Amino acid sequence: MKESRGDKERWNKFCPKCGKKTDELFDSLCRACFTKGIKLIDAEKLAIPIRVNVCEICGGYFKGKGAGKERTSIEEVVTDAIRKEIRERYGHEQECKVRVEGLVGNELKDAENQVIVSLRVKAGIKGVEIEERGEIEVSLKRGTCERCGRITGGYYAGIVQIRADDRIPADEELTMAEEIAYSGLGDADFIPKETKLKEGLDIYVSSMECGRRVSRQIVKKLGGGFSESRKLYGRKDGRNVYRVSFSVRLPAFKKGEKVEIGDKVFSVVKVRKEKGIECVDVATGERTFLKKKETNKARRHFFFL
Ligand SMILES: [Zn+2]
Ligand SMILES: [Zn+2]
Repeated sequence: MKESRGDKERWNKFCPKCGKKTDELFDSLCRACFTKGIKLIDAEKLAIPIRVNVCEICGGYFKGKGAGKERTSIEEVVTDAIRKEIRERYGHEQECKVRVEGLVGNELKDAENQVIVSLRVKAGIKGVEIEERGEIEVSLKRGTCERCGRITGGYYAGIVQIRADDRIPADEELTMAEEIAYSGLGDADFIPKETKLKEGLDIYVSSMECGRRVSRQIVKKLGGGFSESRKLYGRKDGRNVYRVSFSVRLPAFKKGEKVEIGDKVFSVVKVRKEKGIECVDVATGERTFLKKKETNKARRHFFFL
């Protein structure tokens, strides 16, 4: 009833529990009685106990069954569980905000298989805003996540092979390529191994997507191009498993560019494929021919200015 209807018509309802007269009933109870009956954080009644997988190697939290694949956090797991519980108990349309305030007690100890989480929950249940603070227990299942399991097992899905056209990549280029590779790794990616070779660098990668992304980024920053080829490696769970080679080719020296060999800088006049480069010593203006063997020690000049 609306107040505008006059005092007589107000409060013609009452709360069956406490007897208080009120016009405002929630589930036929007054606000106070209704609120009293609501429990937002009810550890004992939680339909599904809150569980989270912890990787003993990297310390990461994972959800789902089996080897941890999907990364999560204690906050996320608690928030999802409480929200689900409230919605199941009071209806799916309920507004509900969960704020995890922290872990109770000190940090996780190695032997402990549970943590107590303190949290604050705010929910609008049938139009009544209710706030509650409490603690809840989360049980930890310790194991090894998929990523760590693979690292330990020496797993890799592909190799990014960095070479240069008609020359040998300079160490600086390989260092840059390496940095690009590491900075472009996603959460689940890893580089189990790198092999420095006479003709370049092999970077082992955890997934095909990772290899492709790394190759693309290297080419974007250092020039050149890349191609992919895959080889059947074996079968797992009835599916073919491939390993992919990403052949990254950094660009050859070009006419007009400057190259460094030791402390000398040369300007490239002509590139003779497979033979060497005709060039001019920038300091003396002297024309000279650098054989392939010598140009293998050359670095592109402009990269490192
Ligand atoms: Zn009441
Ligand atoms: Zn791990």
